[in-house]
Amino acid sequence: MGVREIPVDRITEVVRRLCIEANTILGDDVVAALETSLAIEESPVGQDVFRQLIRNADIARTEGIPLCQDTGMVVVFLEIGQDVHLTRGDLETAVNEGVRQGYRDGYLRASTLDPLTRKNFGDNTPAVIHTRIVPGDRIKVALAAKGFGSENMSQVALFPPSHGIDGIKKFVVGRVDAAGPNPCPPVVVGVGIGGTMEKAAILSKESLLRPIGHRHPNPDISQLELELLKEINNLGIGPQGLGGRITALDVHIETYPTHIGSIPVAVNLQCHSGRHKESII
Ligand code: SF4
Repeated sequence: MGVREIPVDRITEVVRRLCIEANTILGDDVVAALETSLAIEESPVGQDVFRQLIRNADIARTEGIPLCQDTGMVVVFLEIGQDVHLTRGDLETAVNEGVRQGYRDGYLRASTLDPLTRKNFGDNTPAVIHTRIVPGDRIKVALAAKGFGSENMSQVALFPPSHGIDGIKKFVVGRVDAAGPNPCPPVVVGVGIGGTMEKAAILSKESLLRPIGHRHPNPDISQLELELLKEINNLGIGPQGLGGRITALDVHIETYPTHIGSIPVAVNLQCHSGRHKESII
């Protein structure tokens, strides 16, 4: 196979478009989960919250306005085929230029700043960029606009092996319980298990890109997802923390081999405004 040349401004264009789409068009899977939840929710206040969230998504889509005032920090997962040759610039500058243009042209709030001086950069750059080199000659761009009400409620822990699966479950359910109304429930609970500290965290974030309702292909992990979902929904936190049956729309787990001496576990919470889109170049 020959080398495929891709000018980096193609990446800028795609990132620009995905920033606007992610912030204004809620995924079909999220809308469907909100509709299903409305039918299941027993609490009248909770039902009302679901009606409002569905209406909010409809208004945002038809009027092209943001789903939420917090338009998030951009997280980009890039899978770059090893037969791609990027030309006319560098990759990270191109991604950040796409974020700059998307947030400017979409009238989206700029939220990124220096962590110590708290001075806002004014254009929502830089994005957090995760890059993987894969076989082939294409580039997959998966982009999330991550709100920090839910990001702030996330946690990583490294347990001794004796902690076991019951310990993992207690940690995940306990995290959602302690978060209460802060992550803007109903949430999607992303869980990364294994690897090292940072690998578990990245897995938990990546798991949130999976469509709601899609189970992990490994039946044991899929079963664990369903068990956690049931336990979390028994907490009674409910939509927007106002009480009810539905606290989480789904639980997604991703795993990676780890060391004999540890069980790294990360929980990354996604609010109801589950904004992510992807595109192939
Ligand atoms: S956590 Fe999500 S829904 Fe809540 S304010 Fe932030 S982006 Fe909006």
